[in-house]
Amino acid sequence: VIQAQDVHKSFGSLEVLKGIDLTVDRGEVVCLLGASGSGKSTFLRCVNHLETVDRGFILVDGQLIGSDLVQGRLQQARPPVVAERKSRIGMVFQQFNLFGHMTVLENVILAPMRVKKESRAVAVERGVRLLERVGLGAKRDSYPSHLSGGQQQRVAIARALAMEPTLMLFDEPTSALDPELVGEVLDVMRDLAASGMTMVVVTHEMGFARHVASTAVFLSEGRIIEQGPPEKVIGAPTHERTRSFLGKVL
Ligand code: ATP
Ligand code: MG
Repeated sequence: VIQAQDVHKSFGSLEVLKGIDLTVDRGEVVCLLGASGSGKSTFLRCVNHLETVDRGFILVDGQLIGSDLVQGRLQQARPPVVAERKSRIGMVFQQFNLFGHMTVLENVILAPMRVKKESRAVAVERGVRLLERVGLGAKRDSYPSHLSGGQQQRVAIARALAMEPTLMLFDEPTSALDPELVGEVLDVMRDLAASGMTMVVVTHEMGFARHVASTAVFLSEGRIIEQGPPEKVIGAPTHERTRSFLGKVL
């Protein structure tokens, strides 16, 4: 689903990604670990085309997001084409970013109606089903401010799923939550993984990474320095920087 090759990204003179190679296959759950500033969010944002790559490339579902290779030359893709490709990538952030003036259900059906031009009836039917799936069927008519952080994050997940993505990206989805609310969000993510969704998850939840990830990737200063099954990367890391990071978060 993702093929990233030699991805470089700088902000001014600060080189944040220094040549990332990563392949994520269908149904895989990749947990991205690393210290603050190592480039985890930047990489996710490049996958999602919220940032452009300076060198190298990222294919999602076999395609570049922002451009096409036409007769050996890169050509910028038209905005509707870019939007359609981006709509196949769901993203969940640390801050849930729900629309406060809309009900839970309205939040979930907005993008399918606006971007995919779905009828309200179709969007509502799927929206209700997704809210039930994340355990919030009864909250469809509530406003976000009346929900706990864990509930809001579950709505954000349902909202991302409403676009029927082929890939879900999570950037520290539980970091803003009170400890007692973390579990309910991780449970939803675990179910999603079990359903076969392809996921890339930036997280400091080592229990989740160990038990749910198919691959753990450790990023340090813009490079992948360790990668493999979580029981190896987390259980028996070979790199000193991985060990020192794990010593702090475990
Ligand atoms: P954290 O665990 O703190 O979220 P991270 O691994 O996600 O860290 P990034 O957010 O990718 O790290 O940031 C990597 C570096 O790039 C940091 O030094 C950050 O200050 C810098 N950076 C990120 N986005 C921008 C931007 N838009 N403009 C300038 N610098 C940026
Ligand atoms: Mg980050």
